[in-house]
Amino acid sequence: MAEGGFGYGLGILKGMGVTFKHFVNTYAADIGYLLNMYSDRPGSGTKFETRQGLKARGMYTVEYPDEKLAVPERFRFVPFLIVEDYDHEERPGHDWCTSCGICAKVCPPQCIWIVRGTNPETGRPKPEPEAFFIDIDICMNCGYCAEFCPFDAIKMDHDYELASYDRTTNHIFDKQKLSKEFRYWRTIAPTTAVEEMEARGGWEHTDVIKARKKAEKAGGKAAAKSKPKAAPKAEVKPAADAAPAAPAPVAEAPVPEDDPNIDPKKARLMKKRAEMLARKEARKKNK
Ligand code: SF4
Ligand code: SF4
Repeated sequence: MAEGGFGYGLGILKGMGVTFKHFVNTYAADIGYLLNMYSDRPGSGTKFETRQGLKARGMYTVEYPDEKLAVPERFRFVPFLIVEDYDHEERPGHDWCTSCGICAKVCPPQCIWIVRGTNPETGRPKPEPEAFFIDIDICMNCGYCAEFCPFDAIKMDHDYELASYDRTTNHIFDKQKLSKEFRYWRTIAPTTAVEEMEARGGWEHTDVIKARKKAEKAGGKAAAKSKPKAAPKAEVKPAADAAPAAPAPVAEAPVPEDDPNIDPKKARLMKKRAEMLARKEARKKNK
């Protein structure tokens, strides 16, 4: 009993020792920080970042909102929709979302609403959202929508300062409020953006990549078709003044006299015909 009580006492002393160490380190770091306040080398990170780092000693209070901690790349708050950069050559500001509705289906608290666009000429649905809403107060920041989107069109934002006094109007984010340029995603999540680019096969939207590949393929086929074919062999016509070619000699017809399958009368006639043709040929040659 006495041994156990002594052991517990040691634990308390150890804990107090750790607290005291932090207390001393905090002041030691504060003094060092003030002395080196202006000695930051470019690229070495600011003193503020160093003091927030894992190797920092002592305790440090972040004086939010004047000071803010940088969030890690995988940090996620509410989702946002990716649109093409506004200076994109082919389709500036175009939605990456195809309004397939997968994100709305997988969202656990069902806080996404999508209205699919329609082609005004044909009245048929088109792969663009006409309206897109997310209730950011219901969103639980799970990131499922971003995980399941097959077009990398919805991503989790880093912006966490969304509090306001009017939740009814300010916290139902519409398409305009949700839309952000693709370059914004590349800025806040450079590593993930590169991974996704490699998976898609290019920096562009999947549909654009597919369309370009198709066009390249079609261009290749068209080029193959338009290749000049091998010139047909020129027909060699005899010159007008050239002497007419001698007629090919008529081959002597074989006389199947000995053939038992042929009627002897017919065989004799055939023989006579063959002899007549031979004589005719001989006369021509003699002329
Ligand atoms: S899953 Fe992606 S493409 Fe489909 S509706 Fe949601 S954001 Fe749009
Ligand atoms: S982060 Fe989760 S809760 Fe929020 S909209 Fe996406 S799927 Fe829904």
